[in-house]
Amino acid sequence: MKERLQELRQEALKKISQATDLKQLNDVRVAYLGKKGPITEVLRGMGSLSAEERPVIGALANEVREEISTQLEAKKAELEEEAIQKKLAEESIDVTLPGRPVNHGSHHPLTKVIQEIEDLFIGLGYSIAEGPEVETDYYNFEALNLPKDHPARDMQDSFYITEEILLRTQTSPVQARTMEKFKGKGPIKIICPGKVYRRDNDDATHSHQFMQIEGLVVDENIRMSDLVGTLEIFAKKIFGEEREIRLRPSFFPFTEPSVEMDITCKICSGEGCPVCKGTGWIEILGAGMVHPNVLRMSGFDPEKYTGFAFGMGPERIAMLKYGVDDIRNFYINDVRFLKQFFAADIPVSTESSTNAVFEQSGILGSE
Ligand SMILES: [Zn+2]
Repeated sequence: MKERLQELRQEALKKISQATDLKQLNDVRVAYLGKKGPITEVLRGMGSLSAEERPVIGALANEVREEISTQLEAKKAELEEEAIQKKLAEESIDVTLPGRPVNHGSHHPLTKVIQEIEDLFIGLGYSIAEGPEVETDYYNFEALNLPKDHPARDMQDSFYITEEILLRTQTSPVQARTMEKFKGKGPIKIICPGKVYRRDNDDATHSHQFMQIEGLVVDENIRMSDLVGTLEIFAKKIFGEEREIRLRPSFFPFTEPSVEMDITCKICSGEGCPVCKGTGWIEILGAGMVHPNVLRMSGFDPEKYTGFAFGMGPERIAMLKYGVDDIRNFYINDVRFLKQFFAADIPVSTESSTNAVFEQSGILGSE
C-alpha cells in the first residue's frame, strides 16, 4: 500500500506540472482527490491492515493528499497569473495612437449673426425684448400706424389665423408691446430679435419664415444724429472698420423721417462689382425716427419724447458676411452647409450674393 501511495503521488504531481490550463488542472483534482479517486480507495482498504500499519498508512495517505492539494493550488495560481499576463499582452494599449475624432456641432449661421448683433447692442446698453410669434392685428399693424385700410396691409402678405390674429409679419409688435409696458415713461433701449412670417413663395431670396432684428430707443432729446451714430457703429463692428455708410430717404408707416442705410461694398471697396450691382453700395437696413402717432398710441407724449427705430434681416447679413447666395440654405438644415460654419472666423466670401432679400427681410416694414 505504501508503494501504491508513493506511485499515486508521483503520477499526480507529474500531471499537475504538465497541466496547461485550469480545466486540465481540475481534471487532475477530480481524478486523484475525488470520492471515487485512487487515494480514497486506498483509505477504504485500510480496514484489512494490521493495527500497527494502519496509522502509518493513514498518515502517509493524508500527507499525499495534502501535497497534491498544495501543488494543485500553486499550479492554479501560476496558470491564472499566466492568463492575466497573456491578456495584458494581447490587449495592450498604444498610448501614442491619435484619439478618435469627436463630431462637434456648431451654431447655426443665423444664430451666430444674431448673437454677434445682440452682443454689440448689449454693449451699447440695450436690453433684449421678445414677444409672441402669434400676434394680434392690433400690435402687428394698428399700434404701428397701419390702420385697417392702409395699403401696406395686403392680405396676401400675411398668414391670418382669424380676422384679428396672425403670425407676426415683423418684430415691430414687440416694440409696441414694450412701449405700452413703459406706460409713457422713458427711456427705452431695446433690440428685438425673432422669427417673422409672410406669405411668399420660397426662392433664392424669399422665405415664408425669416428673422428680423429691430432696435428701438425712446427718450427725451433723441435726435436723428443719435440714430446715425448708432448705425455707423453697427456697420463698422459687424462688417469692418473700413465700411462707410450712407442714408437714403425712404418711407415706413411707423417712422418719420425714414431712411435706408447702405454700406460700402467690401468686395470692390466701392468701385462697383456684381455683388453691389455696380453701385459700390449694399443695402443693409431700414430705420427712422419713431412716428409721433406710434408714440401717442403707446402712451408716450410726442411733445416730450422722441425716438428712433431700425430693423434688419439676419439672413441678409449672414448672406453678405458668409457669401451665401440662397436664403433657403438657412432653413433646409443640410449638414454639409451647416458644417462650414464650425470655424470661429469665416472669411467673407467673394462669391456673388443677392441684394433682393433685403426687400423682404431687412426693412422695418413694407411700403
Ligand atoms: Zn461691389
